[in-house]
Amino acid sequence: MKEYFGRPESKILKRRQGRRYRQINDIKIKARRIAYKAFKEGKVEKTPCQKCGKEKVEMHHPDYAEPLQIVWLCKRCHMMADGLVPIG
Ligand SMILES: [Zn+2]
Repeated sequence: MKEYFGRPESKILKRRQGRRYRQINDIKIKARRIAYKAFKEGKVEKTPCQKCGKEKVEMHHPDYAEPLQIVWLCKRCHMMADGLVPIG
């Protein structure tokens, strides 16, 4: 917890994420909710990471307009798919 304390840059980052970001985030949350529900109901099958074959995977949506179009990726590949470079 210590590292989150006294870091003003995280506050600035939040302020920069305006209405557009929140709208995109809303679509993401909705897509995840639909996908998770489908997964719980057994409509979606979990597979190992489609990029590296790791067993521990997360849901990735290439297109949030298609909530049931799920790609299973491990955390690292997921971050890269979302355009983020994992550290460490
Ligand atoms: Zn992977």
